[in-house]
Amino acid sequence: MKYFSTRGADQLLSFEETVLAGLAPDGGLYIPEHVPSLPDNWQTAWKDFSFVDLSVAVLSLYISPEEISQSELRALVEKSYSTFRHPDVTPLKELTDKTYVLELFHGPTFAFKDVALQLLGNLFEFFLKRRNASKAPGEQPERLTVVGATSGDTGSAAIYGLRNKANISIFILHPKGRVSPIQEAQMTTVTDANVHNLAVKGTFDDCQDIVKSLFADREFNTAHRLGAVNSINWARILAQTVYYFLSYFHLRRQIPDADEIEIQYVVPTGNFGDILAGYYAKRMGLPIGRLGVATNANDILARFWKSGAYEKVDSSAEASVPAAGGASDGKQATDASGVRETLSPAMDILVSSNFERLLWYLAFEGAAQGDDVASRKKAASATIADWMSKVKSDGRVQVPVAVLELARRDFFAERVSDEETLETIKYYFESDAHYIADPHTAVGLCAARRVAAQNPPQTHQVVLSTAHPAKFSEAVTRALQGSPSFNFERDVLPPEFKGLLERERRVIDVEAAQVDLVKKVIEKYAAPTASEVGTSV
Ligand SMILES: *Cc1c(COP(=O)(O)O)cnc(C)c1O
Repeated sequence: MKYFSTRGADQLLSFEETVLAGLAPDGGLYIPEHVPSLPDNWQTAWKDFSFVDLSVAVLSLYISPEEISQSELRALVEKSYSTFRHPDVTPLKELTDKTYVLELFHGPTFAFKDVALQLLGNLFEFFLKRRNASKAPGEQPERLTVVGATSGDTGSAAIYGLRNKANISIFILHPKGRVSPIQEAQMTTVTDANVHNLAVKGTFDDCQDIVKSLFADREFNTAHRLGAVNSINWARILAQTVYYFLSYFHLRRQIPDADEIEIQYVVPTGNFGDILAGYYAKRMGLPIGRLGVATNANDILARFWKSGAYEKVDSSAEASVPAAGGASDGKQATDASGVRETLSPAMDILVSSNFERLLWYLAFEGAAQGDDVASRKKAASATIADWMSKVKSDGRVQVPVAVLELARRDFFAERVSDEETLETIKYYFESDAHYIADPHTAVGLCAARRVAAQNPPQTHQVVLSTAHPAKFSEAVTRALQGSPSFNFERDVLPPEFKGLLERERRVIDVEAAQVDLVKKVIEKYAAPTASEVGTSV
């Protein structure tokens, strides 16, 4: 299996090259040369597979055995998911007879990004080790310097994915004092020598700008072989397809007339990575219904499914007068770039980076059917390059009606306000299930409930649960403070979080949001040896 960019279908890369590159040089995202179909007997052969078995089965359809053998792949996957606390890795829980949550937060940082980043870290290490093993004695080993900015969630999952990996250093910038205490503690209490937390005096945008400048600096980039672990990395999408299969089998096992039901997945969505994995599963042949995109007030995707316009700023809302009394959403603070601050911060985005991959498939299906596959691929990539340059220059693109119809065939989208998010947390806590959802999961649960009334009666909904409620204690406490039976420490706080705030930390203070200061830190600590340690604060 080879991979090519959504913006140019000519050049083919191996899986290894794809994973190490992240983003394509033309600005596009890598996708597989074709979506593999499932083996004929998958329904019976895979039905009792564990998460690890299913990972090997699904991933090996996308990775040539010449690149990673079955036994190497199994070892990588076993190592990656041994860090999860639940035997199912991603367990399915029943909330009502038609509603289930697929809990993706049983990894080291209690959020769904662990599923992908635990594997990605091991893949990086595997590739570098192999490259270095073939080097002559005395030759410089290949190293990778991973640099990223975080407002909280992604940073800790990346750190836990890469801690203690050979030949890799990781530098994560966060805005000093502006991430939640739990998230800050999760990141800075990792004291492995290859992990460097930079507390930058400034905002999250400052941190992101610094990271962008570092990547744009060719000399610095090449000297340190900068790498990114952001959500567009193909390996992250691939790792996430597995739990759609696992939950499909788990759900069917619980239902007597499983052949009669339709399964509908609803996914709290930001950068469109989690739900895109479901789309790949569906394209491969997993028989599931439409996928539900659930957004918060940062609703570029919900607006796309309404109008076919993919635009950063809601042009229809700008023209309209706010309703009397003001919808709570309208008053929400936005940061300098226009992102709205919500109670589900991991979904606070302006554009959805992985959405480009879906657009490619829609453009491909919409391309002239008579042409051969190679020409249609080329045409699709040209269309995507055109659409994306419009988004860049005009802030928007309007896709043809036929493309929007294709999108509606496989997806629906709903926007959920903060108020509804809080109500939903309360609703499920007070329901018979007595379930405490985090605010991201609640966005998904709310969207699911909204569409449930229109679903055919045989529909069963699976809502992806993306974070443990303890990570977002403010929202959860706010939603449940009126419930007399609620006690945060007893009902939510996992034992692993107790004492976290008091643990030893390692963090490097960066006194101003300046690229040069960050460069100095990276120059000092990249390619660490055991004796090198950061500044203890
Ligand atoms: C990243 C994240 C999301 C959004 O996932 P995407 O793949 O970006 O759509 C949702 N919830 C939580 C808790 C996350 O960390």
